[in-house]
Amino acid sequence: MRTCRTISHIRTALEPCRDGTIGLVPTMGALHAGHLSLLEAARAECSTVVMSLFVNPAQFAEAGDLDGYPRDEERDLAAAAEAGVDLVFAPSVEEMYPPGFQTWVDVTELGAMLEGVHRPGHFRGVATICLKLFTIVRPDLVYFGRKDAQQVAVLRRLISDLALELELRDLPIVRDADGLALSSRNARLSPVERERALALPRALASRDPERARALLDGLEVDYVEIAPFDPPVLAAAVRVGSTRLIDNVPLEEVS
Ligand code: AMP
Repeated sequence: MRTCRTISHIRTALEPCRDGTIGLVPTMGALHAGHLSLLEAARAECSTVVMSLFVNPAQFAEAGDLDGYPRDEERDLAAAAEAGVDLVFAPSVEEMYPPGFQTWVDVTELGAMLEGVHRPGHFRGVATICLKLFTIVRPDLVYFGRKDAQQVAVLRRLISDLALELELRDLPIVRDADGLALSSRNARLSPVERERALALPRALASRDPERARALLDGLEVDYVEIAPFDPPVLAAAVRVGSTRLIDNVPLEEVS
């Protein structure tokens, strides 16, 4: 496995791989079994697997959230190698946002609802960094988790609207045995907070917004709503202490 820190390095490293299928798994690191499921799917389907590792400042609305985001590159690189990744793209912030950077992609409607209401600018940051990663790596396939269902909807729209020549694969949410969806942010929960956080998957399992709202009583709820994605999902975001958690359940079979 090779780690590339610059755009020119990853492009050169990918040159001999262009005859085969290139899969890209974008991550912000702090890898867990959710990320590993994406890497495993990419490994099964692609001749070259690229994992990006970049904590994207542009998608964080709160500076404290960005500063406190868990980072452990050494551990992530070991996990990526173990998962059979061929190339890791781990650029600096300056490499991705050089001085004078001013070009942004906005998926205007899908990016403004739900998460977009509570994290203004979040999906503009996500769409812009993903488009930049897609142009740098030029993958045939990209892999995302349904844990971030709105992100999948936004990126599918971006790919279709801009006629990008790549296919998006979305994979099921990986959960801990107690039902909590795996998230890099779970590490910040105290044992008591983790117990309270379990109300989130339990509430969503009702698949009913009213019942879910009642079951989340006592937690700070940003939203519990049916989201008009494909398939529609019951999605929610809650704050447990200083940690914000999101989760969703599909309301129909995946088409
Ligand atoms: P992140 O590093 O949080 O940006 O996540 C990178 C990718 O992993 C995104 O496509 C996420 O949707 C996906 N992901 C995160 N958590 C999970 C999970 N629990 N199950 C499946 N995919 C996940």
